[in-house]
Amino acid sequence: MIRLSTLFLATLLPLAAHSFTPQELWQDWPEERFETAVAPCLRHAQLMESLQALESRFPDSLQIEAVGESFLGRSIRMITLGRGERKILLWSQMHGDEPSATPTLLDIAHYLLEHRQEPASQSILDSFTLLMIPMLNPDGAEIYERRNAQAIDINRDALNLVTPEGRILKRVRDEHEPMLGFNLHDQNRRTAVGDTGLLATNAVLAVAGDPENTLTPGRLRAKRACAAIVEALAPFMPGGMARYDEDWSPRAFGDNLTAWGTPVVLIESGGVPSGHEFTVLTRLNFVAILTALEGLARDDLAGYDPRVYEDLLRNQSNAWSDVVVRDAYILQPGTARAYRADLAFDRLRSDRQDVGCSQGATVRSRISEIGDARFLGAGESLAAGNSLLLAPFEVGVEGWSARKWLDQSHLARLADLGVGTLYWSVRHRRSEAAHTHAGQLRASGLPRIEVVTGPSPLPALVLSGPPREAASASLAAVLEALGAERWTTLEQLQALWVRKPGTEPNPPLLRQGLAASFLLLSPAPEGRVDFTKALLTDVWLDGHKIEGTP
Ligand SMILES: [Zn+2]
Repeated sequence: MIRLSTLFLATLLPLAAHSFTPQELWQDWPEERFETAVAPCLRHAQLMESLQALESRFPDSLQIEAVGESFLGRSIRMITLGRGERKILLWSQMHGDEPSATPTLLDIAHYLLEHRQEPASQSILDSFTLLMIPMLNPDGAEIYERRNAQAIDINRDALNLVTPEGRILKRVRDEHEPMLGFNLHDQNRRTAVGDTGLLATNAVLAVAGDPENTLTPGRLRAKRACAAIVEALAPFMPGGMARYDEDWSPRAFGDNLTAWGTPVVLIESGGVPSGHEFTVLTRLNFVAILTALEGLARDDLAGYDPRVYEDLLRNQSNAWSDVVVRDAYILQPGTARAYRADLAFDRLRSDRQDVGCSQGATVRSRISEIGDARFLGAGESLAAGNSLLLAPFEVGVEGWSARKWLDQSHLARLADLGVGTLYWSVRHRRSEAAHTHAGQLRASGLPRIEVVTGPSPLPALVLSGPPREAASASLAAVLEALGAERWTTLEQLQALWVRKPGTEPNPPLLRQGLAASFLLLSPAPEGRVDFTKALLTDVWLDGHKIEGTP
């Protein structure tokens, strides 16, 4: 009796523990990930080291071979694992600046082999041979560019095959004839899910294999794989899944692989929701791909309804901004009447700046919308319903001697006081030195210095020396610190901006495409400001909120 029940349990237990759930994969990833570099920072040299480490950890269970070289001679490697007849091809980063899934491929190989005694991994490794090419475009990845070193978009080279990287992909496909492909990309990180205003963390696509979008058994399988991915990721990023544009793209690899007999699942990693690190994209890929592989091994994804994929809302561009200031009264410089509108802007930083592995360049900003932004999703929303939004102050400084106090700390104080631009008027012979001095003081969150020579108009407000500290955040105190006590009405305040000479009227200074530099004054009932009561609540210079606002 005892022996029988033991036997019974022994056969039942593996079945019960057959699948790993998305939740388990999600929980396991931080501990069990293999490639610890943050995806945008991972370059070819480090990838080679990681691949070597992976190979020496599992010398008998996987192969890593060079399948060719990039245009500049970087080795492109393929990881092969599993012993199944049917093959699945996965490749990442054919666009050099789309890195999120590159670490994922190493993580997946490591995870499957670490857990190879467990039924789910065993069944994947028994059913399939996985062919994985991480970082198909190492030359692009090196400089974080979409295209390869020939300046060609590899993903538009499926017909010409002018790129060595494209030829590698084609050759591997033709040699192995995989039954399914995973094409792993990143999309614009400000894409929204339909009109929901929610950020698309991922978009998926069962790629078309002809202009008619014919549903072959292979494409149906790809659709089921997409459905599996949607269901797997839903608990972690509710509402964050979108469907990628399904139009036939005749030069692209995904479309042609599908046409050549390897239906392709496209996964696009998108935005990083607030409160998450960039690595969440690598983690989501890990959960998505392993769940799909497990379903494929179990029952060819029979339990997944393709309608889950078909019903996804489409990717929507221009529907999401980094910051939206809502319901402000906007006052354009040189005009006297404020009007109600939203102002949205983006911070133009690269992934590498975002995750801190790019030395460099200050982060710029760009106003994306002024007007009705009620349907625009936002990383950060500012309710400004009782505020007047206006351009930062502009001040003038005269003479070369001002260099003695024109330093970082005084510029920071000017920023606190809402100054966005400082016009520094010097004689012609000092112009070069003044430009050098100003250049050294260029930094995010500081006012811009514009060197002017000759009889150039200065703003109405000219500083005679370093700015004083404001006694309070009241507008009156701020203007006093700037030496502008005599301005007491909105109209007079408008005179503080430089008016360029000339016959053509100036376009509005707060407008789409320009840097997001502005001030908020409140209270401003109906857009009107009482100078004795209003406070300077916010200073934003080129997308940076100035924290020292008095
Ligand atoms: Zn791409």
